[in-house]
Parts: sequence; C-alpha cells; structure tokens
Amino acid sequence: MLITVEDCWLQLVQGDITLQEVDAIANAANERLAGGGGVDGAIHRAAGPTLMEETSREYPDGCPTGEAVATSAGSLTAQFVFHTVGPVWRGGGAGEEQLLRGCYRSCLELAVDHELQSVAFPAISTGVFGYPIDLAAEASLDEVRQFLETHRRPSLVRFVLWSEGNFGAYARVLEEMVS
Ligand code: ADP
Repeated sequence: MLITVEDCWLQLVQGDITLQEVDAIANAANERLAGGGGVDGAIHRAAGPTLMEETSREYPDGCPTGEAVATSAGSLTAQFVFHTVGPVWRGGGAGEEQLLRGCYRSCLELAVDHELQSVAFPAISTGVFGYPIDLAAEASLDEVRQFLETHRRPSLVRFVLWSEGNFGAYARVLEEMVS
C-alpha cells in the first residue's frame, strides 16, 4: 500500500526489514543498546558484529527512550541503522504515545540531517514492549505523515510489518487516514 504526502511516498509492506533496499533502517532497540531478540536480533545478525562494536564505542551510555542514534549498517544494503528506543507499554498513561512518536520523529530528523532519500521502519514497541498494534499504527502513521507534510522529505518512508496481522492493522489505519 502506497500513498503520497506532499511530494513524498508513505508505503506499507509486509516483510523483513533487514532485506530492504533503502538508505536507512530503524532498529527497535533498548536503552542500553545491548542487543536483544525480535527485530533488534534480526538486524544485528544480518549486519554482523561491527554494528555492536560501533554502538558500544560511539554510544556507551545507550539511548534514552523516544530518541534515536545512528550507526553504519555493516553488511546490510542500507547505509545507516537508526537505533531508537520505543516505550514499554504500561497502559497508556505513562507518556507512551509521545515517546513512540518521538522515536519516529527522531529517526526522520536523522534521515534529513544525513540527506537520505529513504527510510524503513519496523512497528516499534509492538513486540516484547507490548504496545497495542492499532494504537501504535495510529500514532506512528500520524507522526510520519505530519513530518512529511512539514519537511517534505525523506522521499520515501516505508513501514515493514513482519506479520500479516500487523500489516492489516497498519493498512486499516492508513486507509482511514486517506479517506
Ligand atoms: P520492541 O521491543 O520495540 O517491542 P520487538 O523486536 O520485540 O521490539 O518487536 C517490534 C516489532 O518488530 C514486532 O511487531 C515484530 O513482529 C517485528 N519484527 C520482528 N522481526 C522483524 C523483522 N525481521 N523485520 C520487521 N519487523 C520485525
């Protein structure tokens, strides 16, 4: 599914984020940037050990929730990995939505700073961190759309949803957004 926002593309695909041919992929990391399972494990496995070497060297204090840091991307086809830390879902009253929006915004700011054309995102916080998928879809798609409306770049933002269920949830929200 693909829509345009100003002169940019906002795209949803089902698949594996490590295989995307884009300038940067976002990683759903933890505050210590310590490595983990889920999408983080997949990205580190595909990129190789240089990714962890670089995060430990450049960001020994980790990364706060809602923010993002950039590294190179090892063996991936992407040039950069943006490590961003989503909130753990605690029922919705602990600022989770603003923190989740902050993840997407911070990564898009890094993309603009590095003059990149294309960025791919996973559904941050929707795995082990427990953020309800429908609410995550609403917040993340709205934040990306607002960013593209304001900044008119990067040219392509692609959400890569691992499961059919997650893809369906994002597609329903995006359809409502354009109707
Ligand atoms: P978090 O701790 O932020 O919840 P997870 O890695 O547990 O991060 O999950 C985030 C989302 O990433 C989940 O929806 C999960 O299905 C998805 N995911 C897992 N592996 C991949 C992959 N290779 N590509 C894209 N998305 C993935």
